[in-house]
Amino acid sequence: MYDMIIIGGGAAGLTAGIYGGRSGLKTLIIEKMFAGGQAATTYEVDNYPGFDETVTGPDLAMKMEAQAKKFGAEIITEDVIDINVDSKIKIVKTSRNTYLSKTLILALGANPRELGLDKERKFRGAGVSYCATCDGAFYRDRVAAVVGGGDTAVEDALFLSRFSPKVYLIHRRDQLRAAKVLRDVAFANDKIEFVWDSVVEAIEGEENVEGIKIKNVKTGVSKELKVDGMFVAVGVVPNSDLIKGKIETTDRGYIVTDANMLTNKPGVYAAGDVRDKILRQVITAAADGAIAAFAAERYITETDFNM
Ligand SMILES: Cc1cc2nc3c(=O)[nH]c(=O)nc-3n(C[C@H](O)[C@H](O)[C@H](O)COP(=O)(O)OP(=O)(O)OC[C@H]3O[C@@H](n4cnc5c(N)ncnc54)[C@H](O)[C@@H]3O)c2cc1C
Repeated sequence: MYDMIIIGGGAAGLTAGIYGGRSGLKTLIIEKMFAGGQAATTYEVDNYPGFDETVTGPDLAMKMEAQAKKFGAEIITEDVIDINVDSKIKIVKTSRNTYLSKTLILALGANPRELGLDKERKFRGAGVSYCATCDGAFYRDRVAAVVGGGDTAVEDALFLSRFSPKVYLIHRRDQLRAAKVLRDVAFANDKIEFVWDSVVEAIEGEENVEGIKIKNVKTGVSKELKVDGMFVAVGVVPNSDLIKGKIETTDRGYIVTDANMLTNKPGVYAAGDVRDKILRQVITAAADGAIAAFAAERYITETDFNM
């Protein structure tokens, strides 16, 4: 029996692990892929306090993982496929084992939103990508398109311009949502061509991406762009399928918590990008994880588990 099981080993889960382990709680982090979550796929994190020299996402993730282990949190690689949150002792089923715990922290994170186009899934890894920092280096001397208008889209276009001779930034509006500092750098970059008021209608190609068909939403005119790759940066969707019908969420699937990260079930907390909140970043994921672990520890102290 564990005191605290944390599902998800991103910034939120690892920070909860640091606080849980350091409090002397028997703590288990279950991560289905690799520790660090989205942060580990980010090239540079330059807004996390404490690093005046920019830290790479993988380095930051590795440091968080090492810190959680240092304080005694156990980290395993398994996919959680079911949970029971209705009894006092929570049950967590993975594809391999069943675990029991007094408390549960849901740090399930989020995944990039898809455009929903034919061939989008088929060409994932064959010209369609959701992570410029992971795949950008494959686009040396090849033309790329980025879809989106927020910080991630602009960062992706800037990153790709290190490799690609030309990067189209396709946005459905006529101005970017991205922060001014990013906009200014992007507008000054002559490798980036902005395609305003446009959406992607189709992906062209047989075995991999050879082009995309875009439509101007104001004029209704469609045209084809010859590109070797399309990077999609149009937001994220929460990884909340696991808890559907078991834990209260918003209409969009984000878990509802109080200020102490408590969900609508006693002993069950949520932290990070999967939670309904205003800002989804490494710093806020880490903060949520710390609060959730602290609140869980207090709950364990105040609850009689012998009944
Ligand atoms: C390209 C990109 C660039 C970014 N740049 C920045 C930046 O510069 N600065 C910044 O502060 N933030 C940045 N962010 C946002 C930041 O990475 C996230 O806000 C933060 O990592 C969220 O952490 P998290 O722990 O909540 O979720 P995640 O990082 O999504 O981690 C959740 C983890 O849970 C695991 N998981 C999910 N379901 C299960 C299951 N059933 N069983 C087991 N494990 C499961 C997932 O595999 C994942 O590892 C960026 C994000 C992206 C995608």
